[in-house]
Amino acid sequence: MQLSGKVALVTGAGQGIGKATALKLASYGADVAVVDVNYENALVTANEVTNMGRKAMALKVDVTNPKQTDEMAQSVFTELQGLHILVNNAGITRDGLLMRMSEADWDAVIDVNLKGSFNCAKSCIKYMTKQRWGRIINIASIVGITGNPGQANYSASKAGVIGLTKTIAREMASRNITCNAVAPGFIETAMTDALPQDVKEKLLAQIPLGRLGGPTDIAMCVVFLASSAAGYITGHVMNVNGGMYM
Ligand code: NAP
Repeated sequence: MQLSGKVALVTGAGQGIGKATALKLASYGADVAVVDVNYENALVTANEVTNMGRKAMALKVDVTNPKQTDEMAQSVFTELQGLHILVNNAGITRDGLLMRMSEADWDAVIDVNLKGSFNCAKSCIKYMTKQRWGRIINIASIVGITGNPGQANYSASKAGVIGLTKTIAREMASRNITCNAVAPGFIETAMTDALPQDVKEKLLAQIPLGRLGGPTDIAMCVVFLASSAAGYITGHVMNVNGGMYM
C-alpha cells in the first residue's frame, strides 16, 4: 500500500473524514493537496502533512464552482508535480422531511455532494489521463443505498455519487484510471455530533460491531483503494459501516 511518488488531492480535508484521509495518505507516502472552503482548517491539515515529511499545499476551493476546481487541479499538478489520487469527500447535510424540505436545501446538498464530485473529477481527469494512472475515490454514504427518512436530498445526492462512480469507472478504465466509492455508515465527526443522543442510541442498536465508526476507518479504506494493491478494483462501492448494512 505504498504511495510514494503519488500526489493526492482531498476535498473537504479541513476536518473530519477528509482530514483523517489526508493524513493517512501522507503517512503512506503521498504528497497531499488539502482542499476546503475553510482555508484556516485546510492550512492546519496541510501543516500536519508537512510535519510528516511530505509535500503539501492548502487551497480554499468551493467544489460547486467549476472555475475554481479547474484552477485547483492545474495549480496542484504544477506545484506538486502530479495529480494521481482524487478523493471527493466534501459534503454537507440539510436534513428535513420531504414535505417540508425547501428547494434551497435540496439544491445546496445536490450542488456540493453530487455536482462538486462531478466538477472535481472533470477538472482532475485530464491530468490523470496524461499520466495514464489515476485513482478517483468518491465518498458516498450508506443512505445512498438504503434511503433515510429526513434525508431525501442527501440520500439522492449519494445515490447519484454511486452512479457517477460506476460511469467514470467505465469511461476511464482504458486510461488506467479506476474509480470507486466508499459508503460510510455512521462515523463520529462534526456531521454526526449534531445528532440527538436518543437518535445515536437507536443507530448504535443497528450496528452489529456495536460502535460508531471513526474517521480512520474510512481513511484506511481510501488508502487501500488508492494503492496499487487495489489496481484491479473499479466501479465498486465499499461499505464501511460496522455491519449496519450488508
Ligand atoms: P464534516 O466534518 O462536515 O467535513 C466536511 C468538510 O467539507 C468541511 O470541512 C466543510 O467545510 C467542507 N465543505 C463543505 N462544503 C464544501 C464546499 N462547497 N467546497 C469545499 N469544501 C466544502 O463531514 P464528515 O463527517 O467528515 O463527512 C465527510 C464526507 O463523508 C461527506 O461527503 C459526508 O457526506 C460523508 N459521510 C459522512 C458520514 C458520517 O457519519 N460522518 C457518513 C456517511 C458519509 P465547512 O465545515 O467549513 O463547511
